Amino acid sequence: MPIYETKLKRRQEIADGTMAFYFEKPVGFEYKAGQFADYTLVNPSETDTEGNIRGFSLASAPYEDDLMSATRMRDTAFKRVLKTMEIGTGLMLDAPYGSFTLHNNAKVPAVFLTGGIGVTPVRSIILQASRDKLPHKIFLFYSNRRPEDAAFLGDLMSAQETNPNFTFIATMTEMEKSSQDWDAETGYITNDMLTKYIPDLAAPIYYVCGPAAMVAAMRKILNEAGVDDDNIRTEEFAGY
Ligand SMILES: Cc1cc2nc3c(=O)[nH]c(=O)nc-3n(C[C@H](O)[C@H](O)[C@H](O)COP(=O)(O)OP(=O)(O)OC[C@H]3O[C@@H](n4cnc5c(N)ncnc54)[C@H](O)[C@@H]3O)c2cc1C
Repeated sequence: MPIYETKLKRRQEIADGTMAFYFEKPVGFEYKAGQFADYTLVNPSETDTEGNIRGFSLASAPYEDDLMSATRMRDTAFKRVLKTMEIGTGLMLDAPYGSFTLHNNAKVPAVFLTGGIGVTPVRSIILQASRDKLPHKIFLFYSNRRPEDAAFLGDLMSAQETNPNFTFIATMTEMEKSSQDWDAETGYITNDMLTKYIPDLAAPIYYVCGPAAMVAAMRKILNEAGVDDDNIRTEEFAGY
């Protein structure tokens, strides 16, 4: 892939401990919803043994003006630099990569299973599908401890209002630690929760995204429910 130059335009805390970073979209840069980019810091103020490159999903949808990625702000040199660098600082972008993209056959439903920061490519896919008025039936199961921890809840709720083919099932696993109200699902994503919303578990293509442990747990639930591995696509966030 060609290497592009980009610049940080702005950053924003979008959930507890989670920040979104907005970058200039380089001229000629095109990507598909669900793909990711390798970002390289240029002459960073500090570095550590993990280096100056991180792969982040493009959480922005291709129709949006800026590129946007979001991450859990752990205390590593790369993320400290990203959090404090001046607006306008340049980075190198090696992208786009990945095949975690929506299938073409609109007769086959898509079910996304994710939690926490694993939602990043899913935001891109769902916003783009809504914008393009795609006929695919899309279900998103999105698990977090509390609403305070859940990135992009507002964007996804809005998508459900405008896209009649999209069903959004957000679930919280530790509401006792939350100061917000929540009148939707609670508890982990389970076989029972899936069957409550999906009439035939064998019909959809499943998309699972997040840290390796989350991906493994979701695949186990799907396999136990009789879903064929051929119908499960995964994106593992190595490094968590
Ligand atoms: C396709 C893809 C998409 C991703 N999208 C996102 C995203 O949207 N948001 C997000 O927050 N994170 C995403 N990640 C994870 C991200 O790249 C970082 O690894 C993560 O954010 C942790 O970085 P850190 O600086 O906090 O931790 P650190 O542990 O300091 O950094 C992680 C570093 O260790 C390396 N590493 C550690 N363990 C492994 C391993 N098992 N396999 C390979 N490399 C390893 C990584 O390459 C990285 O350089 C994605 C990863 C992949 C592969």
